[in-house]
Amino acid sequence: MIKIKELHKSYKTGKSSLHVLKGIDFEVEPGELVAIMGSSGSGKSTLLNILGMLDVADTGIYELDGVPIENLDEKKAAQYRNQFLGFVFQSFNLINYKTALENVALPLYYQGVKRKERREIALDYLSRVGLADWATHLPSELSGGQKQRVAIARAMASNPKVLLADEPTGALDTTTSYEVMDLIQKINDEGRTILVVTHEPDIAQMCKRIVHLKDGTIEKDSRVEQVKALPHV
Ligand code: ADP
Ligand code: MG
Repeated sequence: MIKIKELHKSYKTGKSSLHVLKGIDFEVEPGELVAIMGSSGSGKSTLLNILGMLDVADTGIYELDGVPIENLDEKKAAQYRNQFLGFVFQSFNLINYKTALENVALPLYYQGVKRKERREIALDYLSRVGLADWATHLPSELSGGQKQRVAIARAMASNPKVLLADEPTGALDTTTSYEVMDLIQKINDEGRTILVVTHEPDIAQMCKRIVHLKDGTIEKDSRVEQVKALPHV
């Protein structure tokens, strides 16, 4: 699903340059649930943004679902991004003046889906995250956990091949974090490939594989015995 080789990324600020990713190699198979761990500043977001085509590497190979991601113009990149990838962020990134339903429907608008169908699909995804009754509410009327569930519904609405989540539980308390991870595990159980950036060990243990970034390289990459976020009822 994802194949990267010898990936390098530096940031230039004035005359100095910060070498953040120093040759990253890794592959992700369809259906994996991978945690990307590392201390603050270790390059987790940089890597995720490159995988998400929000940024480009300086050198290296990146293949997404067999498609080489390089030298794409902005339009092509946006098209692949919409088609292949869903994003979830720590700060939810919902649009404040739009309802939960409108937020979930928005990516479908950019894909040219007709209004009635957009609303149907959006409502379906809101139901799947348990928020059908909150469809007409604004983000300001929702709790943090509810906002993140709306953001997950939005990311899923365009049926992406890969879901990328950058510290999705970073702004949530423990109970709410586990509820969000339970949802992520359920989406993964349906076969979706998911990468989760986190610096919390308990959250990482809820994935199936943990990749540790340190000093710009992968220090450790191992499969883990997955801990269920919530007890089954
Ligand atoms: P993490 O997500 O692991 O905390 P980041 O990928 O956000 O780390 O950042 C890695 C390093 O790169 C940090 O030292 C950060 O300050 C720096 N950095 C990130 N983005 C930029 C940027 N746009 N310009 C310059 N430096 C950046
Ligand atoms: Mg980060």
